[in-house]
Amino acid sequence: MSVRVRFAPSPTGPLHIGGVRTALYNYLYAKKNNGTFILRIEDTDQERYVKEAENYIVNSLRWLGIEPDEGPGIVERHGPYRQSERKELYINNIKIILSSEKAYMAFDTPDELQALRKEAELRGETFTYNWKNRQGLRNSLSLSKEACESLVKNKTPYVVRFKTHTSGEEENITLQDTVRGEITVDKSLLDDKILLKQDGMPTYHFANIVDDHLMEITHVIRGEEWLPSMPLHVLLYKAFGWVAPVFAHVPLILKPSGKGKLSKRDGDALGFPVFPLNWGKATLGFKEAGYIPEALINYLALLGWSPGGEKELFTMDELIRSFSLNNITKSGGRFDPERCKWFNQQYAHLLPIPELVHLLKEVLTTKNLNENTVSLEVVSGLIRNRITLLTDLWDEASLFFEAPKSYDEKAVKKQWKEETPLILSGVVEVLQKSERTSADALGKEVKEWAENKGVRIGALMAPLRLALVGSMRGPDVFEICNAIGKKESVARINTALTKLKR
Ligand code: GLU
Repeated sequence: MSVRVRFAPSPTGPLHIGGVRTALYNYLYAKKNNGTFILRIEDTDQERYVKEAENYIVNSLRWLGIEPDEGPGIVERHGPYRQSERKELYINNIKIILSSEKAYMAFDTPDELQALRKEAELRGETFTYNWKNRQGLRNSLSLSKEACESLVKNKTPYVVRFKTHTSGEEENITLQDTVRGEITVDKSLLDDKILLKQDGMPTYHFANIVDDHLMEITHVIRGEEWLPSMPLHVLLYKAFGWVAPVFAHVPLILKPSGKGKLSKRDGDALGFPVFPLNWGKATLGFKEAGYIPEALINYLALLGWSPGGEKELFTMDELIRSFSLNNITKSGGRFDPERCKWFNQQYAHLLPIPELVHLLKEVLTTKNLNENTVSLEVVSGLIRNRITLLTDLWDEASLFFEAPKSYDEKAVKKQWKEETPLILSGVVEVLQKSERTSADALGKEVKEWAENKGVRIGALMAPLRLALVGSMRGPDVFEICNAIGKKESVARINTALTKLKR
C-alpha cells in the first residue's frame, strides 16, 4: 500500500510555523516513501473562515518548496479537496452511521443544554452528554420513531451525535501513536461528540475522518494539540468498520523561554516572524524578513525531529533521505530565533553568486541605481560572507554604489589626524598612477609606497576606509578600491579631504 499523507489546515488566518512544520513532516514522509502529499482545506467552520487564508497557505508552501501532489486545483483524483465542496459525502456518511445506530439525532435546544450545564455546575459537576444521561434527553434514542419523524418533518433543528460509549461495553480503549506510544483512555468518560451541526455542516471531527478514509490516507501526521481527538477518531473508524490510519502527533513548537506554545505575540515582542509570509501590513513574514526558504526548512525540520549525529545542515533531499517518524521527539521544540538566524547565515554564505547578483539587481532597481560600472559579481563575492539575513544585503552592498553622505563622527575623531590629508593625498597619487587591476596588487603598491615614505600602515588604512566608506565598516579597503574603480576611489578620497579639513 503506498503512503498517502495530508496537510489539512483550516483557512482561519495566516499559517503559523507550527503548521508549516507539520506540512513539512508530511511532505518529507511522503517523499521518503515515494508516497503522495495531499493538501486539504478544512473550511467547514464558516464563522472562522477567512477568504485570503487559502491563497496564503498555498503561496507559503510554494515559497518553501513543499508542493502538494494533490490538492485544490492541482491533481483532483480524490477531490474536491475543499471540505465546503464535499457536503454531500458527509451527508451520505451521516446517513450510514445513523442507520447503523452508532449515532443519533439530538433535538435538545441550546437553551435546554445551557440549563443542564448550570444545574450541574450548582452541584459542582460538569454536564456531559453521554451514555449516562442520553436516555433522559431529547434525542432519537429516547423519543419514539414517530415523534422523531414529526420533529424532522417540522424542520426542528437537530444535531447528530456519536454514541461514544454504551453501558456494558469495555470502557478502556488502547490507542497507538507513533510518537507517544501506547495510550489508554476510558471512553465512558467522554461525551457524545457532535458529528453534524444544526446548520447541516459536519464538525471538524466528522469531516476529518470521512475525508481521511475517502482520500485513502495511510498516516495522519499532525500537531499534538489534536491528540485529545484521537480516541474519538479511532472510535469513529471502528463505528464505520474502516481501517484507521497510523497516527503520529508531533510535539508543539514552544516559546523561546520554553514555557508554552509559540504565539504571534512572542514574535512581536521579541521581533522575529512566526509566519512564512507577510500577512497584511502589520504581520511580518520570514520571507520579507530576509530568510532563505531552505534555511527555514532546515531549522524547522530539526525542531522536533532528530536524525542523530552531529550534522546540522541538510538540503531538502537529505532531509527526505533521513526522515523517519521514529525520530520525532516527544518533548516540544523551543523556538530559538538566534539559532534560526544562524541557519540562515550558513545558507546565505553558500548562496551562488548569480543568485546574489540577481537579488542585488532587484535592490538596485528599487533604489534607481542600476546605471553603474561596478561589477555585481565582485560585490556579491565580497559581501556574501557578511550577511545573515537577505535584508542585510543593501547594508553591506550600499558602500559600493553610493559615496559616503556623511562620516562617522567618532571614527573621524579617532582616525583623522593632522598628517592624514598629506598621507591620503599621497595615496591619491599612487592610485592615479597605478596600473594594477587586482585588490592585492593595488594594496601591495600602496603599502610599498607607505613604507618608502615612512608612513605607518595604521595611519593610512583607517582614514582611507573612512574616506571611501564614511565609517569603519566593510570588507578589505583595497577590495573596495578595486571594486569601485580608481576614479571613484580618488573622487571619494578628495571629497573626504575637502569635507574633513582639520
Ligand atoms: N483542520 C485541522 C487543523 O487546523 C486539521 C487537524 C488534523 O490534521 O487532523 O489543524
